[in-house]
Amino acid sequence: MPIYEYRCTACNEDFSLLQKMGASAAEALCPNCGSPKVEKLISACAVNSGSVGSPASGPACSMGGG
Ligand SMILES: [Zn+2]
Repeated sequence: MPIYEYRCTACNEDFSLLQKMGASAAEALCPNCGSPKVEKLISACAVNSGSVGSPASGPACSMGGG
């Protein structure tokens, strides 16, 4: 399952959730304050895919740990 990143609009806490494909942000709750007011962030992995010959190649995806 992919990991989605969210940001809580109540306390500005960033967190990531392991969700099924196509899961909506409505199913996410902030682990910090428990608020359902969260917005989904674009994962860096998703943005990088398809881009060939990027001038700046850094650590794209660091899965695991955390
Ligand atoms: Zn919060």
